[in-house]
Amino acid sequence: MMPCGLLKNHEFRFGNALSFSFDIKHAESGSLARVGTINTPHGPIQTPAFIPVGTKATVKSVLPEAMKDLGSQALLSNAYHLYLQPGSDVLDEAGGLAKFMNWPGPTFTDSGGFQVLSLGVGFKKVLAMDAQTFRRDDVIAGNKDRLAHVDDEGVTFKSHLDGSMHRFTPEVSMQVQHQIGADIMFAFDECTTLHNTRPYQELAMDRTYAWAIRCLDEHKRLTEERIGKPYQALFGVIQGAQYEDLRKKAATDLGSLESSGQSFDGFGIGGALDKGQLGTIVSWVNEVLPEDKPRHLLGIGAPEDLFVGVENGCDTFDCVLASRIARTSAVYTMEGRFNLSNSRFKRDFKPIDSQCDCYTCTHYTRAYMHHVFRGKEIISATLATIHNERFIVRLVDQMRQALIDGNFADMKADFLGRYTHRSGQSRD
Ligand SMILES: [Zn+2]
Repeated sequence: MMPCGLLKNHEFRFGNALSFSFDIKHAESGSLARVGTINTPHGPIQTPAFIPVGTKATVKSVLPEAMKDLGSQALLSNAYHLYLQPGSDVLDEAGGLAKFMNWPGPTFTDSGGFQVLSLGVGFKKVLAMDAQTFRRDDVIAGNKDRLAHVDDEGVTFKSHLDGSMHRFTPEVSMQVQHQIGADIMFAFDECTTLHNTRPYQELAMDRTYAWAIRCLDEHKRLTEERIGKPYQALFGVIQGAQYEDLRKKAATDLGSLESSGQSFDGFGIGGALDKGQLGTIVSWVNEVLPEDKPRHLLGIGAPEDLFVGVENGCDTFDCVLASRIARTSAVYTMEGRFNLSNSRFKRDFKPIDSQCDCYTCTHYTRAYMHHVFRGKEIISATLATIHNERFIVRLVDQMRQALIDGNFADMKADFLGRYTHRSGQSRD
């Protein structure tokens, strides 16, 4: 465990002297994969790394201490949710996100672009990962009103909490994220889906570029204004959906962009990602982006996708899937995914995964988990989330070690050979 010693050493009294850097320690020959360290004012992140999501400044049902114990190096929260509740000014007063939620390590915030658009437009919370379905620019989930309107200046949206009207612009997103105080922030982008038409993808990409310049300018202004605060790194977000020319143009333009003497500290690969083409799309982008800056693959966290992301040069990942499916009794194991509420586990006194070193697997049985899920006991969410987050965090840690040891291909073949065996249900 890397406990709260980390807290004592740094104790939230950082100046701008402790800033942000990325060191590559090993680059794989024959692929884009690399091993490195992202240094932030709240501590280092050894990469590749999976970053669990605590959307509203909490990983649902799990204490921060337990997240640290299970190996999480950092957490990612969401600017949109924290802006609406409790308000980013509250986090500023509290001393920033990490201190507010008692998390003794680095934090990320998503810019709010995806949430404003996905919640506002009424999409399901999961972006479709299939380009073969219909394409319309005004698609709205069934029975929902359009709650967000995009223009060249920003997005006007209705709160999903109380229906109040709000407006996010690149400047507002930067102000909100500076108040929240995460170590790594993302530029405000227009997040499209695979359903949008090609002309709309082009329009959204041009808009995202114009917004990137405004984010850099406002970020520079706020960094200077908020002197004495720990440096917050800003990542640009690469859009372009499934189109090679658009993805490469976005990576070229944002990779070399400098405004107000400020360039991006790293990059997020965002927007619609066609699962069947994930590796191809990510490699288009990562072949173009500056090698010496970290790359975060937004919203990707299924085991088989993490291998694709790592071997194509992504350094960090986040996804709500591990905790969201845990609350529905679905767990990852080396043999695939299954549901603990299934009656076949009623008298199964083995751990969820006999090879897992997590708190849940070392203390509880499948039969107990089955019982607490059937009884709708709150502890079911806690224990299943601890297992799933540990499974994914450890898997990416193992990929990092395999890259160092030079046996990534073998480790991947071994894992995927077993993981899909029996279950066949490894995808979402
Ligand atoms: Zn476990």
